[in-house]
Amino acid sequence: MKLNGWGNFPIVDSKLTSLSSFLKELSKKSDEKTETREQAKAIPRGMGRSYGDSSLSDTVVSTLQHNCILDFDSNNGVVTVESGVVLSELLEIIIPKGWFMPATPGTRYVTIGGMVASDVHGKNHHCDGSFGRHIKQLTLLTGDGEKLLCSSTDNSELFYATIGGMGLTGIILEITFSLLAIDTAYIRQESIRVKNIHEAMEVFEASEDWTYSVAWIDCIAKGDSLGRSIIMRGEHAATSELDIQQSKKPLQLTPKKKRSVPFNFPSFALNPISIKLFNNLYYRKVPAGTTKEIIDYNTFFYPLDALLNWNRIYGKAGFVQYQFVLPKETSKEVMPEILKHIADAGSGSFLAVLKLFGKEDKGLLSFPREGYTLALDFPATSATFTLLNKLDEIVHQAEGRIYLTKDSRLQARWMKSGYEHLSTFQKVRQQNDKNNLFRSLQSDRLQITSNNE
Ligand SMILES: Cc1cc2nc3c(=O)[nH]c(=O)nc-3n(C[C@H](O)[C@H](O)[C@H](O)COP(=O)(O)OP(=O)(O)OC[C@H]3O[C@@H](n4cnc5c(N)ncnc54)[C@H](O)[C@@H]3O)c2cc1C
Repeated sequence: MKLNGWGNFPIVDSKLTSLSSFLKELSKKSDEKTETREQAKAIPRGMGRSYGDSSLSDTVVSTLQHNCILDFDSNNGVVTVESGVVLSELLEIIIPKGWFMPATPGTRYVTIGGMVASDVHGKNHHCDGSFGRHIKQLTLLTGDGEKLLCSSTDNSELFYATIGGMGLTGIILEITFSLLAIDTAYIRQESIRVKNIHEAMEVFEASEDWTYSVAWIDCIAKGDSLGRSIIMRGEHAATSELDIQQSKKPLQLTPKKKRSVPFNFPSFALNPISIKLFNNLYYRKVPAGTTKEIIDYNTFFYPLDALLNWNRIYGKAGFVQYQFVLPKETSKEVMPEILKHIADAGSGSFLAVLKLFGKEDKGLLSFPREGYTLALDFPATSATFTLLNKLDEIVHQAEGRIYLTKDSRLQARWMKSGYEHLSTFQKVRQQNDKNNLFRSLQSDRLQITSNNE
């Protein structure tokens, strides 16, 4: 069947199989002789919210039916789940008991297995690190067919290769992790409108003691307005901060109706004029200065989820998301340079997001490192690829790296330069997958897995 990631690019033919069928097939094959075990490559897949080709392969193993919450210690905030549990479902269980995720991406339609494999970061990375930091242990099915318990003390190399390992070390079956205690399902938010990228960086750095911070950035604005932004910073609200209505059930929200994009937009709908118009309106939506409000957690963490299938606005040809991080030392000079290239190209998206990361964690292929990260969408066109090839070089010169879970087009040479633990990762992977079973289109393209064929 045809499969794709969230960007609808690329779309490929794959064999989609369930985890249980795959396990049966694997155990049959392990009884056969080694020569006959040569097989097409396979990769696990959760909700397919990675943008490009990281969850695409010859055989794609869906974890979605492997979706039980195995244990929830609501006194101590520790949960054990099967990897196909979807974050939105877990939130409905844990929030009413006063717990939240220690790190969450900008959508709740992801599996917990996918969150581990991408070692996702949230708006609190500068304080709390990425999701991997909160994992106590996980169970992994390796390419060699073994089920191994991995933690910082057991099979620790494999543990750190699997966190952020993009499914290439095997299929994560179960995960145990710690939660964050909350009093309410609300966030105290401050929105600050700033005139350009320099002011934005100043506000980020002055906000380091806020738990959450993120900026929406206008990538079309030029000159003195280059990188004008709205910075949102937030804290979990205390019960005393809620209004009378909210404080009746502080850990419960009234469900809101979701809207959906019903079909793929035609390609002409997104053009520099419509994007400029949208960005102008969005920028002016927030008054100059600082705005304070109490908002529910969905509005703060998952604003895009309010519009289901929003990826259709890029039309049939699809889109790519480009996310890179630059070390803090080079960010001040290089981020404006990159923004200028994007503004000059005039093809930047509505949805550009800027964030300041804190210290790097231990996942061998984890994306976050200390510095500024920018994420934005582009239509999948040849002009975009030319622009992004140029940006890759600038990111490389500045010693930055590109986020694999968003990528569908990076060249292998930049993989090696961006991820300094790549060869250790490859060694650990080879030791546990002698037949080179777990590979994706992306991992072969980037020569992460194709070197040991
Ligand atoms: C609107 C939107 C906002 C986002 N915001 C953020 C953000 O703020 N921060 C951030 O870090 N990411 C963000 N992401 C990216 C998203 O969090 C990751 O791509 C996540 O991995 C998607 O989970 P999934 O279940 O859809 O995984 P899939 O897309 O299905 O797979 C992603 C990768 O995980 C692997 N994988 C999946 N399940 C398993 C498993 N059980 N065992 C081993 N490997 C597995 C796959 O092989 C693949 O390499 C966002 C994505 C979207 C669409």
